[in-house]
Formats: sequence, C-alpha cells, structure tokens
Amino acid sequence: MTEPQIAVGILSGKEIQFFFPDEFISSDGMAISGMQQAVYRKGKICWQEKEYDELSFTPQRNTSSFFELQDVTIGIDFHWERKEVQRFKGELKIIIEDDKLTAINVISIEEYLTSVISSEMSATASLELLKAHAVISRSWLLDKLRIENEKLRNTMPSSSAANSQFSILNSQFIKWYDHEAHKNFDVCADDHCQRYQGITRASAPQAIEAVSATRGEVLMYEGKICDTRFSKCCGGAFEEFQNCWENVKHPYLIGQRDSQTEHRLPDLSIEAEADKWIRTSPVAFCNTQDKKILSQVLNNYDQETADFYRWKVSYSQQELSELIHKRSGIDFGIIIDLIPVERGTSGRLVRLKIVGTLRTLILGKELEIRRTLSTSHLYSSAFVVDKEYKEDEEEIPSRFTLTGAGWGHGVGLCQIGAAVMGEQGYKYEEILSHYYPGSILEKQYK
Ligand SMILES: [Zn+2]
Ligand SMILES: [Zn+2]
Repeated sequence: MTEPQIAVGILSGKEIQFFFPDEFISSDGMAISGMQQAVYRKGKICWQEKEYDELSFTPQRNTSSFFELQDVTIGIDFHWERKEVQRFKGELKIIIEDDKLTAINVISIEEYLTSVISSEMSATASLELLKAHAVISRSWLLDKLRIENEKLRNTMPSSSAANSQFSILNSQFIKWYDHEAHKNFDVCADDHCQRYQGITRASAPQAIEAVSATRGEVLMYEGKICDTRFSKCCGGAFEEFQNCWENVKHPYLIGQRDSQTEHRLPDLSIEAEADKWIRTSPVAFCNTQDKKILSQVLNNYDQETADFYRWKVSYSQQELSELIHKRSGIDFGIIIDLIPVERGTSGRLVRLKIVGTLRTLILGKELEIRRTLSTSHLYSSAFVVDKEYKEDEEEIPSRFTLTGAGWGHGVGLCQIGAAVMGEQGYKYEEILSHYYPGSILEKQYK
C-alpha cells in the first residue's frame, strides 16, 4: 500500500473565490495563476466563461505550492465564528452539491494528519500523547477509506451508512447516533469530522514530529483496523461499545479501570456499586485537576471548569419537567422519578426510566439520555439521582440533583487519562494498549 490521499470538504457556496500564488494546472489543461472565481449557475460550475460539471486544479510544482480559499468560516456556532482566508497544499477540486459549489482539498493522509493534530491538540501536549492521537486519527481515516472502497467495489449507494437507529418497543425509546458519512468527499473540515485548516497556521513542531514518528501506523485487532473511539474523560472506568452504539462487541473496547492499580473494577452495572463509584473519587489516570494537563486536551473555549471527573447538576421540578418536554418533545407532566434501568461497565446509564404524571418511558442509549436531560448535553450518562421534597408534598419531588462521573461516552481512549499517562512518562504504545487492550500497532505503508 502506498500513502493514500484524502478528499476534505472545506466550504460550499454559490460562488467560490480562490487564489493561486503560482502556477496550477486545471483539469482541462490550462496553466493558471492569480485570483479566480467559480460560480454556480443552472446546475453547472462556471469558471472563465466556460461550464463544467467538475473542476480541479493541481499544483505545477508539487512540493511547496499552495492555494488560498477566501471566506472560510471557522468556529461554526461558536461565539468566535468568523471568516478567514485559508491556505492548502495539494489539489483543489470543485464539485456541485445541493445547488451549490463545494471546494474540496485532495491531500496526502500524512500532511492532513499533521495539520489536524496541530490544530486539535495543544502545543503543550506531550510528544507521546500526540503520537497516540496521530495513530488513532490515522486508524479512523484509513478505516473510513476502506469502508468507502468496499462500497465502491460492491456498488452500494454511498449514502447507505446508517448513522442512527432507534426502536420504540414496550414504552422504550432507544436511539443511538453514529458518525454520519459524507457523500462526495471523505471528511469535512469541521468538528463533525476533524478540524482542518490546511497550512493556514504553521504546524507545531511537536505535531510534525508525532505524525512522522508514527508514519503509516494504525491500530489493528485480528487483521482489522480498530474502531478508535475516544472521549474527554471516562470517569475512572471504560464503557463498552455496545452500550453506546449498535449491539456489536469489540474485544478491544471493554470495561476496565483507567488506572494500573491492583484493585479490580467493581461491577458498575449493579446499582449499589455504581452509586458508590460515582459518589466517590476513585484513583484513575483521568482523576486530575492539574490545569497544565487539562489544557493539553481542552481547547481554550471549554476550559471553564475542571470538575468533570465528578460533577453535579441540579434542577427544580419546573426546570426539569420543562426541559424534558422541550428536549424529547414528549409531555411527561410532573416528573415523579428518574429510575436507572440498565448501566454499562463504566456506570453510564444505557437505559433510564422517566416517570411522569402523564406518562412513563424508558429512554436510551447514553447520548439520548444526555440530550434529554440538558439544554445541550449532560457531561455523561454516568449519574445518580437525589430527590428533595417539600414538607407538604411527599409524592412530588421539588428538586432533582444529578451527581455524575466523566465527560463523553467513555469508550476507547480517555483523553485526560492519556494526557496524564504522557506526562508520567508512558510511551504511546503503552497508552494505546491501555485504552485498546489486545490491539497491535501495524505500519500500513512506508
Ligand atoms: Zn464531517
Ligand atoms: Zn479516564
């Protein structure tokens, strides 16, 4: 296998402006440079007064050439959302999608990874943490490309990837969300896939070193590329894959302690054990308040709190009933109880029973629970519930307090834990085999 290329969707619009500082060759053989504009008109791409269904531009000299895209929106939906000019190496491709033009950057995987690792991770991260991230990002990408290739071979429709499933059976609403595939390119440049800004900002030397030191390396299990999921903070124990997504067991995504202590992990699917675990603060790699380490993983915009190993959220009766109504679209009436039905290996709720005066429903899986019980997302579904009552109303709780553990789904690599391991001198191979037990590193290309 030679190093594959990847197609990254950067932006879309009725018109796209781009700039070639030096010569690029268009797909119809023209040598061009300078400022360019392509416009969508009646189902075609108009460029230089000609019409195209698809258009691409390849650098004349391969190594140092780059192109610029105007008006790329960054920080979508964040308070710092703005537009900027971005620079990219490799090829520029323009296609038609939904009555608009989409600009795509076709680039080698290793160059793409260098940019991604540099912009997603803090420059202060340890080299071993960056290497571990380079391997899991590369594994995710190569697995994605493999799936797409298989689809092409089997001539399956490219939009067939199921991203969510649900079933309503016996008053249960069980839904999960998986990564939605793109139709006309491999990955997008936003957080939906991985944040990618080309060479707009110089890559951090540590990121360059981490990617080149692990060149071509992916995680494998029994001859297949691993599903390298990761989340912010597991809360002290790993969750298993099937408790968050479809009912498939991955032998390397299993319940285990996020530490190397001798103490075995209690069976957190048992309510009493989960209760004890969540209300205490067991030893774990991710049990840290060290701002220096946290800042390696969290970008500046969500560093407001360091309390996510263990956290608390409290709602009044009115707040909770309105919230659940608004988020689920179902009016439960007054909320009488939130009852754990099923927990996974990390204590995360897989199914939760919501008991209201108007109806009762069992909800799952973890992300659906987190979406329903918060205006955005609850940190995790590993929580226990305490109810308070007013003296004169013994049946109706006046307040619900959720005490919880961890941030995210808790499956696979725990970013905070991995950052701590990196600081403590563990090698990236050790970090990866801790979070994906039984997996092996394999070089896919030279
Ligand atoms: Zn995407
Ligand atoms: Zn952890």
